[in-house]
Parts: sequence; structure tokens; C-alpha cells
Amino acid sequence: MYYKITCPLPASRSIEVECRLTGIDTPVVELQLPSWRPGRYELQNFAKNLQRFELFDTEGRRLACHKITKDRWRVQTNGVSELVARYTYYSNVINAGSSFSDDRLLYVNPVNLCLYAEGRLSEPCTLELGIPSDWTVACGLAASDESPALLKAADFYELVDCPLMASPDLKHDQYLIDGVPFHVWIHGNFKPDWERIRHDFSRFSEAQLRLYGEFPEPEYHFLTIVLPTAFYHGVEHRNSTMLVLGPNDEGEGLYTDLLGVASHELFHAWNVIRIRPAELLPYDFTRENYFSTCFVAEGVTTYYGDLMLRRAGVFDDAAYLKELHVLFKRHFEASGRAFQSLVESSWDLWLDGYDKGVPHRKVSVYHKGAIAALILDLHLRRQTDHLRSLDEVMRLMWDRFGKPFIGYTLEDYRAVAEEVAGESLDWYFDRCIFGNEPLEDLLNEYLAFVGLHLDYDAADHTANPSVLLHSLPDIDGQLQRDRWLSNQVVPVAG
Ligand SMILES: [Zn+2]
Repeated sequence: MYYKITCPLPASRSIEVECRLTGIDTPVVELQLPSWRPGRYELQNFAKNLQRFELFDTEGRRLACHKITKDRWRVQTNGVSELVARYTYYSNVINAGSSFSDDRLLYVNPVNLCLYAEGRLSEPCTLELGIPSDWTVACGLAASDESPALLKAADFYELVDCPLMASPDLKHDQYLIDGVPFHVWIHGNFKPDWERIRHDFSRFSEAQLRLYGEFPEPEYHFLTIVLPTAFYHGVEHRNSTMLVLGPNDEGEGLYTDLLGVASHELFHAWNVIRIRPAELLPYDFTRENYFSTCFVAEGVTTYYGDLMLRRAGVFDDAAYLKELHVLFKRHFEASGRAFQSLVESSWDLWLDGYDKGVPHRKVSVYHKGAIAALILDLHLRRQTDHLRSLDEVMRLMWDRFGKPFIGYTLEDYRAVAEEVAGESLDWYFDRCIFGNEPLEDLLNEYLAFVGLHLDYDAADHTANPSVLLHSLPDIDGQLQRDRWLSNQVVPVAG
């Protein structure tokens, strides 16, 4: 499939797409626009942004087509071997999963606006950008030798996993870890402190590479848009991530957000992009892809996103514990008494996962999932004097499921965790993953091991409690905390 994207009228905030399909040898072709995008497990129905949609043969004659679902067209090919779909995509929204165009920026998530022909998802794709020659393209896709604006994807899955920014205003720097180039691209009215970014990004990237032992891709791109308004959004992709942050007030808050979201999204390069729930492999772009392990995909990633910043020395203890406190508040004070378990809320992401939702119904797979990951990590560390930890669980998940790129099931994750623990973890899965009991007391058992305690109001068993994290005056707890946060296996002498 061949796509050409142009923006002849930037003020109209719309993108013209020409999708060319060759080698047709069937009387009927079905064209599908994705109804959702990986990373956000809800239907977004991108077809509603199509303003105009027409089909032609190579002679410019119209071909008859009709919709058979909200985003699928059936085409009578009348013997033609080639067809062209021309359509206009309204692109006036900026978030980390959208597309936007004006006179100095073309920002595209191909999953929003690239059709595919049913049965041909594994064929190579070419994406041509009609942009001025002085614009730079930032994208995880390889450019052709002929032009930096001609991008090549091995298949449709790769194409739609590679967002791009094209602009004359991109700022860029890069660093190397183990020979892998990591590119940082920034668009927006923001003056990056490149020395600091290179220093901090190198450190958390290296900490993550050390955990898994290798990087899944030959290169990686952090694509960042900084807005004048408050914003915090990141989306993971196979060799890139799209980040949208704001406001651009040059303050520490923006930089801390950048570190937090960048570390989280990089961890996804292993966990979910490659260590993929079986239900999402391959993605079915036509409908809901239900799965119950988002507490691994997002919970474990949320836990490690901040932990890696501390382990790498980018955060000190105080900065890390501040983030942990925010995490506890987000779970306990919003949904500490919710009815659903983590697996139920994972399944229901497709129902209301990204809405506020009704009170006491669901939990966040991010927040409660990260707390469940913390409990498992501290359990493994306490049982083995830090010889084993969640690191080993994730490393085994990488070796067995991520690297060979075969999906894992909930039972696979459980089996790996139990293998690392060397014991049954029925209690853990029953209470933290399948159950809905309030977790303050169990969490406090484990926090005590690392000299921490969560104060909460235990009097009212129906309302979500207010929580306050503090450290205990406990020398051994402090020592265990140091070993956990810096990942020291051998006890510090003296
Ligand atoms: Zn995430």
C-alpha cells in the first residue's frame, strides 16, 4: 500500500490522503480504517474525522463502494488491478495519539488516517509526505535513499506504530547507549537544556537496558511536542514514543514531567510493544481487543518508570518518594474501595477505562497495577534478601515472550512470577490481582520492610481513605530501602 499525505490548505486544519492499492485480483476489496490505536484501549472511531471520501481507478473513473461497518468500505473492483482512495482527514487536535497540521507542523499518527485492505496487512507500505524541502522529518520509520520525505514500513503494523513530526522548527539531539542511538526531538516554544537532557536520559535508558540486557530495536526516538497549555500525555511505539507536555513555562515541573513520561514510555519498548498480551498479538484494528493483563502492561511500567529514574540517580530518594506518595493518593483516595479487581478493570478499559466513571466501580490499571507491582517486588526482595526481584520476572518475560515475540497470558505471567518466587503466589494473585479488598494493610506490611509507612484513616470502611506516606526511624528499614532503590544485591559492608 502506498500513501501520500499533503496539506494544501494548512489553515483548514486538514490532511489530504491518497491511498494507492495495487495488485488487486479479486472482484471485491474491503478497505478498513482503524477504529482504535494501540496504547489506548478504547474505540476512537477515526472514521468520524473523514470529511470527504472517494475512490477511483487509475484512469480517474469513480469506483462504486459502500460502507459495511462504520469504518469499512466494500469496493466492487470491476476488474481493475489498481485503485486510489482519496480522502480528507480533519486534523485539529494535538494529543499524543492524534494528527495535526498547520503551516509549520505536520504531525501524523498514521493509525488515525491510513486505510488498509483486508488480508494485506503484512505487505510493505510506503508513506510519502508532501512537505517543503527545508522541513525535517522525525520518525521511527526508515527514509528511502531518494528522499527523507519518503518513508518505508515493512508492513501495516510497522507503519501505524510510527508517528511522525515534520517541521522547519524541530530541535534535535541524541545520545548512544551500547551503540544504540537515542534521538530526542522537540517541537514547540521551549528551549531545551540539551546537556541536562542527554545526561539524565542516558542514565535512565542505561538502567533500563541493564535490566533487560539488550534493547529491542536498532534505534529509538523521543518525539516531543511542548504546548503553551497544561498537558501530560505519552504513547508508546516500537522504536519511538510520542510525548505531549505543557505548559512551556521553563519550570522544573515540565522537566520532571518529561523525565517521568519518557522513562515510562521507554520501558514500554520492552513491556507491551514486545512483551505483548496474547490477546493483542496481532492487533485487530476493527474492534475491541479485550485482555485482562493491563496491570502488567501499564502497572508494571508505571512502577518501573519512576523506579528507573531513582535507580539511575536521576531522582534522589526524596524525589522518588514524592512520586510514590502521589501514586498512593491516586489509587487509595480515588478508588481504594472500588468494587472491581485489576483484571476486571483491565477488561473494562474498552468500556470506560479513560473516563472518570461512576464512583466505587473501577480501579486504575496504572495506579493499582503499580502498587501490585511494588508489593510483588518487595515480596521477592524480602524473601530472597534482594537476590531476586521483579527485575528477574520481567527479564524472564522478555526472554520467553518478548524476544521471540509470542504473546503471554495471565497464567504465563503468574507462572514466571511463581518460578522466580520459588513458591506459590496464590495469596498475591487472589488478593492483589483477582480481588478487590482494600490494600493499605498488606501494602504497609511490605512498606515496613523498607522503612516506610502509609498513614490512613481506617475508621470508615466505605469511603476512600486519605493517605500519607512517611518514612520510619528504622536503621534496618533504611538499609533495605537503599538496597531496593539502588538495586544493590550485596549488602553494604559496615
Ligand atoms: Zn503506559
